[in-house]
Amino acid sequence: QADMAMYEAKRAGRPMGVFNAHAQINPQVVSLEADLHRALPQQELELHYQGIYRASGREPTAAEALLRWRHPVRGLVNPGEFIGLAETNGLIVPIGAWVLREACRQAAAWQAQRPGLSVNVNLSARQFWQPDLPDVVRDALRSSGLSPHLLTLEITESVLLDVPDAAQTLGALHALGVRLSLDDFGTGYSSLSYLHRLPLHGLKIDRSFIRDLGQAQGVAENIIRAVMLLAHTLNLHVTTEGIELETQAGFVEALGGDYLQGYLLARPLPAADFERQVLSPSPLAEQSDSTNSTAL
Ligand code: C2E
Ligand code: MG
Ligand code: MG
Ligand code: MG
Repeated sequence: QADMAMYEAKRAGRPMGVFNAHAQINPQVVSLEADLHRALPQQELELHYQGIYRASGREPTAAEALLRWRHPVRGLVNPGEFIGLAETNGLIVPIGAWVLREACRQAAAWQAQRPGLSVNVNLSARQFWQPDLPDVVRDALRSSGLSPHLLTLEITESVLLDVPDAAQTLGALHALGVRLSLDDFGTGYSSLSYLHRLPLHGLKIDRSFIRDLGQAQGVAENIIRAVMLLAHTLNLHVTTEGIELETQAGFVEALGGDYLQGYLLARPLPAADFERQVLSPSPLAEQSDSTNSTAL
């Protein structure tokens, strides 16, 4: 039993402590899990979208799809509270397939308004254990009509570490024409060797480094500078997550960072609000809007 628990936690790419909290008979978690089984059939899941902006000119070029659970009693639940559970019990597989279909459908619909807008979808390591992942992605593209190059799949380093055939699956995904991006870069067990071996298009520097900008000794500054140099040497685009302040955006721009994402530019928004606030305004209106409304 304990071995199985360890195995499952490792597969889900989570620290053991998180699993143990679930393993105890905690009525809160048991009921959350029962509810989660109903979330997909009862259509309680929705996607919010956060703009990703080109650093030069600050134009939105992509939307990251972020999962939300509209629970009938608890209200809007963030992924931090249920993705780990869904990874452990396997529900992330059908949920992840739904996320892919829905994000591709939405991005295809947005082409009329904003041609070339791409969509980023997060994948769990658990989804890579399914041999049919490339088929699931291909079906989402086909049924939506979205061009493959407008879909970016975000993976974390845990995929590369925990999934035996990860490189092969990434090759199959790359062959479909989709883009691959390494999320939360710098927080995992970074190995420089896979950065040039795998068919990656870009990496996202984790927001903890952005948060630490301006602290004594300039450690975060140096790390960001070094990661950008490395990424650009390998022809990878760099996105910085968690940009909340104009000074952070300015620092990243000065270093030649390619894309910005964070509350300064836009928060994750329901699709209708994303259309109104991110896609509709003229570039000028959009800029003054985001500086006024998202100051923290
Ligand atoms: P992530 O992929 O690294 O997504 C970025 C997270 O940072 C999001 O949290 C976003 O709301 C938050 N964020 C963005 N800008 C800022 C900022 O300026 N400041 C701060 N403090 N936070 C910011 P969220 O939506 O709660 O998602 C958390 C994580 O859940 C995601 O991290 C991702 O790993 C996972 N996730 C979300 N949706 C999915 C999904 O559909 N499938 C899978 N497998 N995982 C998902
Ligand atoms: Mg992400
Ligand atoms: Mg991230
Ligand atoms: Mg993250």
